[in-house]
Amino acid sequence: MSVSEKIEELRNRLPQHVVLVAVSKTHPVELMLEAWDTGQCAFGESRPQEMVEKQALMPSGAQWHMIGHLQRNKVRMIMPFVYMIHSADSARLLDAIENEAARIGRNVDVLLEIHIASEQSKHGWQQDELFRFLADEQWRAYFHINFRGVMGIASNTDDTQQIKAEFIRLRELFENLRKDYFGERFDTLSMGMTSDWEIAVECGGNMVRIGSFIFGER
Ligand SMILES: *Cc1c(COP(=O)(O)O)cnc(C)c1O
Repeated sequence: MSVSEKIEELRNRLPQHVVLVAVSKTHPVELMLEAWDTGQCAFGESRPQEMVEKQALMPSGAQWHMIGHLQRNKVRMIMPFVYMIHSADSARLLDAIENEAARIGRNVDVLLEIHIASEQSKHGWQQDELFRFLADEQWRAYFHINFRGVMGIASNTDDTQQIKAEFIRLRELFENLRKDYFGERFDTLSMGMTSDWEIAVECGGNMVRIGSFIFGER
């Protein structure tokens, strides 16, 4: 199946309210343009340098989602054009995002990446750490950051019950944060990739990040 057929298939299977981010990291712009020609406008990348290079080659309407771990000294590279940062996982990174967005005079949509997997290596806030950060109230002075929701990566396992439990936990946290801190505009629950997006959608996810199903193995 071609890239456009894969995207068609996903469109047919995803509920209307779920946003598809096509994860194009490591794949060439030619394949991304094939996706673009079907009407796909959201692309996910993990590395700032690669995102910058592709952004220069893609149509200006493309929406760039930073989904990989972001170093503070790379924020500046992507800030002029990035559409949404899914991987905000520390106060120091949020400081850097706020400062750079303020410096160039824009507002940027940000998701808080939450650690939900059992593996140690994954990035993301631990819940207690996040609640300490929120209690501090410093985030209320981030006038150039739109807190739009949360992102999580489930464990890399065949145990669908475990994956489901992790996604349900993320959804509950999302709802609590929306209710207690951020309000209505906090509306994005980014969870699910090639191997687990159906579980994520069943658990209430409304943004999926799908790479290898669309573009092939990396
Ligand atoms: C690479 C990546 C994806 C896409 O993974 P696939 O298994 O190829 O669909 C989704 N989310 C994040 C954070 C990623 O790094």
